[in-house]
Amino acid sequence: MNLAPHLETPSTSGLQHTATGSPKPRASLAHPVLQLLLQHKRITFAQAQSLLQHGDPVAVACVRSGAIEGMALCRMLASAYKMPWQDLEDINPRKVPRQLIDAARCRQHWAMPIERKDAAVVVAIADPTDSTARHAMEQALRSKVQWVVVNVEQLERMLDFYHPQPTGDDVHMQSEPDEDGNAVAFWQRILAQAVAWRASDIHIEPQEIGFQVRLRVDGLLRALPPASPELRPRLVSHIKVLAQMDIAEKRLPQDGRMGATVENTRIDLRVSSLPTLHGEKLVVRLLGDKHRPALSDLGYEADDLAHLHAALERTSGMIIVTGPTGSGKTLSLYACLDVLNLAHVNIASIEDPCEMVVAGVNQVNVNERAGLDFATGLRAFLRQDPDVLMVGEIRDRTTAGIALQAAQTGHLVLTTLHTNDAPGVLTRLMHMGVEAFQLAASVHLITAQRLVRRLCPLCKQESTLAQELDRLGLHGSGLELLGFAVAPDPAQRVCKPLGCAQCMDGFKGRVGIFQIMPITPGMATLLVQTQDAQTLAKHAQSEGMRTLREAGWVKVFAGLTSVQEVLGVTHA
Ligand SMILES: [Zn+2]
Repeated sequence: MNLAPHLETPSTSGLQHTATGSPKPRASLAHPVLQLLLQHKRITFAQAQSLLQHGDPVAVACVRSGAIEGMALCRMLASAYKMPWQDLEDINPRKVPRQLIDAARCRQHWAMPIERKDAAVVVAIADPTDSTARHAMEQALRSKVQWVVVNVEQLERMLDFYHPQPTGDDVHMQSEPDEDGNAVAFWQRILAQAVAWRASDIHIEPQEIGFQVRLRVDGLLRALPPASPELRPRLVSHIKVLAQMDIAEKRLPQDGRMGATVENTRIDLRVSSLPTLHGEKLVVRLLGDKHRPALSDLGYEADDLAHLHAALERTSGMIIVTGPTGSGKTLSLYACLDVLNLAHVNIASIEDPCEMVVAGVNQVNVNERAGLDFATGLRAFLRQDPDVLMVGEIRDRTTAGIALQAAQTGHLVLTTLHTNDAPGVLTRLMHMGVEAFQLAASVHLITAQRLVRRLCPLCKQESTLAQELDRLGLHGSGLELLGFAVAPDPAQRVCKPLGCAQCMDGFKGRVGIFQIMPITPGMATLLVQTQDAQTLAKHAQSEGMRTLREAGWVKVFAGLTSVQEVLGVTHA
């Protein structure tokens, strides 16, 4: 690649070319990165001076101090020096050459080979104006180098993964396979990454050749760079030992639990193993309450929240949360429990299993083998004078019967079901054999929910509804097909994802969309008269209930999520 000629002229650079090994001269205000930022008025003169005192190389200091966002600096440098830039989230980890250069040098120069291309090596660099770094890398690689500018933060994550900071005996994932320390260090790195990405699960999957590790982040799986195939058996054994599973048993599924400490935070992990064609697959679920949001942070609209609070203030009756697996039902229930969790209230919950530990709540795990199911647990609770009961899930008539009985006799009962929408809960329970009058008497509120990915507030782009529908090939689709009650303005402002260093693919975290169905006196009367789900749904809508799709549009119009997300998880 040809660089802009002035880059090669040391006089424009605060950093003089030096031979490898000799100390770098101190950066000055003439440093091209500072000059560039000053020119673009991204920093003040005073900021530039304080950045020089930061201790890190200038480009790193700019990002770490928050003076500029990593991806913005990367693009700015690439544009100023007419160089290509690379989003490191997009590279193919399988192509990353590992053995070309030592880790210390990569860390020292904030540069790292990311691919071999023809006769050259593509090297990612945080600061392309750092001629010392470039010269040192070129010498060490003894190869033609194609430079690409990258985001400082992404590069740091890559360096941490491929070239971890030496810890005592300096373990590398590609060193001799007979070192158990390898697997231990690798596992710690996977965990650290999982926590950093706020992953919910870690998948360790054997493949025909080698294995892959994927993290579920905001509902989607993301692969980690591949590790040496010899590492897998040791990694799997290490995790199984920690989770107190039988390491000799590889042909039957097993479950285990373990705790871990990552960055001073204690997390609980649930491990399950499954024998597959190519060997044991492990899924590690990260449990923990550190990300447990409050009820008001989950995405309920103001009117929904008012209904929910009204139901929670009652001393008896039932609140039911419904939705498919992974729709955030548990988070909603726990957030409700937090509202109710006062010193004078006796709360008991039976779950399969308890996903988070809540102080002040008597939590019990279902244990089918020992004969402790939802129904027996509920009966036992009722003998202990609880005020609030949480039943993880109603799966059968017996459980439904006891739970409803409890709701009618002075207990507030919270539970979940698996149905598509809120009206569906009523029909499902009646199919289980519950009488309509029982439901009318004890169910106060039903909420259905889904989770959609939340647009990253830093990089989301404005668009219009018409443009977005056009892009999805849905222009001209009927209103009913899209689930609009009234025709929206085609120029309605909506947002779409872009992607930046602070997020993944333009999304960060998730937000719930909710259908809230209070069982009003009108609904209760109708329920006893007709058991028809559609009639009930129509009536609820006439009382102000939104469909899930309508609730989704509210989130889209508020710029919280994208059109595609809502169309993907709801139906009209
Ligand atoms: Zn972003």
